[in-house]
Amino acid sequence: MPAPENPVAELRAASLDAVRDVVIANTETRADPLAAVRCGGVDDVRRVVGLAASWEVPLAIRGGGYSAGGFGTLDGGLVLDVSKMTGVVVDPSTRRVRVGAGTTTGAVEEALAPHGLALTLPVPNRIGLVGAALLGGVGVFVRKLGYVSDAVVGATVVTGTAETRRFDRGDEELWALKGGGGNFGVVTELELEAAPIPRAVVHQVVIGQEAIADALQWYDGWSAGLPDDVTAVAMLRAIPPLPDVPADRVGRPGMLLTVIHADPARAETDLARLAAAPGVLVSSARAATPLELRMSMERGFPAERFGAIIRSGWGAQLTEPGIAALTELAGRMPSTASAIEVVRMGGAIPGIADAGSAPGRHADYLLNAMALWTDDAEAEGCRAWAEHGREVIHAVRDGDALVPGFISEDEAGMARETYGDDYARLAAVKGRLDPANLFRRNLVVEPVLR
Ligand SMILES: Cc1cc2nc3c(=O)[nH]c(=O)nc-3n(C[C@H](O)[C@H](O)[C@H](O)COP(=O)(O)OP(=O)(O)OC[C@H]3O[C@@H](n4cnc5c(N)ncnc54)[C@H](O)[C@@H]3O)c2cc1C
Repeated sequence: MPAPENPVAELRAASLDAVRDVVIANTETRADPLAAVRCGGVDDVRRVVGLAASWEVPLAIRGGGYSAGGFGTLDGGLVLDVSKMTGVVVDPSTRRVRVGAGTTTGAVEEALAPHGLALTLPVPNRIGLVGAALLGGVGVFVRKLGYVSDAVVGATVVTGTAETRRFDRGDEELWALKGGGGNFGVVTELELEAAPIPRAVVHQVVIGQEAIADALQWYDGWSAGLPDDVTAVAMLRAIPPLPDVPADRVGRPGMLLTVIHADPARAETDLARLAAAPGVLVSSARAATPLELRMSMERGFPAERFGAIIRSGWGAQLTEPGIAALTELAGRMPSTASAIEVVRMGGAIPGIADAGSAPGRHADYLLNAMALWTDDAEAEGCRAWAEHGREVIHAVRDGDALVPGFISEDEAGMARETYGDDYARLAAVKGRLDPANLFRRNLVVEPVLR
């Protein structure tokens, strides 16, 4: 049956909260959906999936609305908006956390804080927890806890055939969901296991532009020997107006090294060699709860809506030409919010038991060239920089796999390259849960039907 002429009216007549369009964070995405339905619960989700199937149109799932590729909306299909389906239930005795479909990472962190518990959650706050976890998800304790998806122990899903199913540890479907994104259905609830991290120590080191290449070289050697408790991120970006930063450096390119130690008692000993970083302008350390840490990091991101183009990849040990290319790209930052992230991987990530399908587990680095802007006047410069950033990331990365959480719209067909040998396993699960490929607005896995 084709879609009706006035889908919004039809959906409203069926008592669904339908609107013409949906707001997502990235202003670069221009999409014209048939309608968006703000689901109030599992029944609404099932009805919308059933309608999309009968109208034979694809679905986009809108959680936090934060995907850089704008995957929370689409042309000519239905947007299934779960942003009203929020809620976090923490059981401190088991450290289990149940999270509703549209709950943001900020809300989850707030709910965990009174219990001294943490997950390794991405910043900023508005990112959807489920959207991040289904694509792996890299947060502030990644080397200690692995990906966000590594904490997932159960999921309730409305599949492409509008059935509600629960998957637990050991199920092939849960393995697929932990990295394979929204390919398999709408996750209406996710269950995760949090870790006891009441406090962390955060070091922030600001390095001047003239020392970026030396500092990256030093970072490559220094971060290779870190204990699992330490997460380190080098960010090449315009230097923000932090305390004690000389005024003439503010706004100029530099490197911000953020180092987070999850065991404050060991921080001083383990991080003593940080003092040897080259070109340091300012260095500071403080203890913070995970929530306080998140609130301070949140300030670096633009307000609600912004233009974003992200190019990403997985890297091996940094080489001299790689460092030269990253340093050159850093020298022409197109806006104050844009950045190149060089996240040290390793630690607990490669050895996580019960890992899902999220790729990149054996990489040395996650690399991101991220153009972000809120001022229209910066848009053209940001687009040009992102194009150059794509070339640099391609030259520096190791292999063609993408970082699923950071893909752009034109990379949606790169699932085979990204999941490698696991692609066939994912395609088999897709064939069982979404045989008609309703959920194809993402890093799309084609169903294999048996
Ligand atoms: C500025 C910026 C910074 C970022 N920083 C980080 C970071 O530090 N670490 C990190 O890991 N990622 C980061 N991301 C990426 C972000 O985590 C992912 O794009 C994530 O998928 C966003 O989820 P969302 O629900 O907010 O987005 P949406 O656009 O609403 O959803 C994205 C996709 O997630 C899937 N999805 C969402 N909810 C559900 C659900 N309930 N059921 C099934 N599928 C669902 C769907 O496939 C959907 O298309 C960043 C993105 C931006 C733009």
